[in-house]
Amino acid sequence: MSDTIERVKCLIIGSGPAGYTAAIYAARANMSPVLYQGTQPGGQLTTTNEVENFPGYPEGVTGPEMMMELQKQAERFEADVRDGWVTKVDFSADVHKVWVNGEKEIHADTVIISTGASAKYLGLDSEQKYLKLGGGVSACAVCDGFFYRNQEVVIVGAGDSACEEAHYLSKLCKKVTMLVRRDEFRASKIMAERVKNTENIEILFNTETDEVLGDGQVVHGVRVYNKETKEKHDVPATGFFVAIGHKPNTDIFKGFLDLDETGYIINVPGTAKTNIEGVFVSGDAADHVYRQAITAAGTGCMAALDAERYLASKDVNFEVATSTYN
Ligand code: NDP
Repeated sequence: MSDTIERVKCLIIGSGPAGYTAAIYAARANMSPVLYQGTQPGGQLTTTNEVENFPGYPEGVTGPEMMMELQKQAERFEADVRDGWVTKVDFSADVHKVWVNGEKEIHADTVIISTGASAKYLGLDSEQKYLKLGGGVSACAVCDGFFYRNQEVVIVGAGDSACEEAHYLSKLCKKVTMLVRRDEFRASKIMAERVKNTENIEILFNTETDEVLGDGQVVHGVRVYNKETKEKHDVPATGFFVAIGHKPNTDIFKGFLDLDETGYIINVPGTAKTNIEGVFVSGDAADHVYRQAITAAGTGCMAALDAERYLASKDVNFEVATSTYN
């Protein structure tokens, strides 16, 4: 453990659109924010190829490029963007304690959590290969469905997300094949009925993915197997969508913050406030409904504004940047 404790006014954990937007607003409000990027600098968007639905990019932009632009914009206002992974927190006192890389201790007047969520994948080698290549595997129909207009796609999952995404894809694609591993949906009845009643969605029950097929660059189909008959067959598809849930990256906050049963942080409705004064949340760590870059950015802005108001109410001196003590 390092002996020197750094004291900051605003510590931002996570570097997706939520974290960087919070950093831009906090820096411009003279809060001298320090942002730790985490293990995946740029967050989930860095696994996305083309982003076409973020306002202000008429020609589209790649996920990594957009994250670099956001980082530059935050640094232009002197946000202190650092490499590092927050490993532990202690929110039991007035000053919020945070440890980085298991050693450096930071005391923060305000903390903005923007640690995001990670989409779950099946874990098949073929799935991971085409995901990394950007060759036709996606965990976000709203982000990537447009690239498969008039094509045939496969989607895995049977919850509300899978139903919503299958329905979304059915409006763009020629055909959607939905793989449901049991003989029933997990989704609410109304969502499942909507999928069942959509003409160009074919539902294969008791069916799992054996392999994602392709030419080494892009996806051509999916080999599926029926758990009852043990038979395998190939479904032609250019896109393979995985909608089997998300895991919010909130494990380190357990015991301090109110989380729902899946681990999403519960915010005070209409604000970025959590159950702990001075600790705020933005982006997918609290959002299992919208999960878009633009909504994450919007809540990042809210978190910085809420943090600034909190600091003002505590009469924190905005002229002093960070300080250290032993
Ligand atoms: P869920 O956990 O509800 O569903 C995950 C689905 O993926 C399940 O059907 C599960 O199958 C399936 N699954 C998991 N692992 C595998 C695997 N390895 N292979 C094949 N299938 C697998 O996640 P969601 O993201 O759908 O929903 C999360 C929460 O968000 C829910 O509370 C949901 O109601 C809510 N939500 C609400 C919406 C709305 O109201 N508009 C929209 C989207 C989400 P099995 O059933 O067999 O376990």
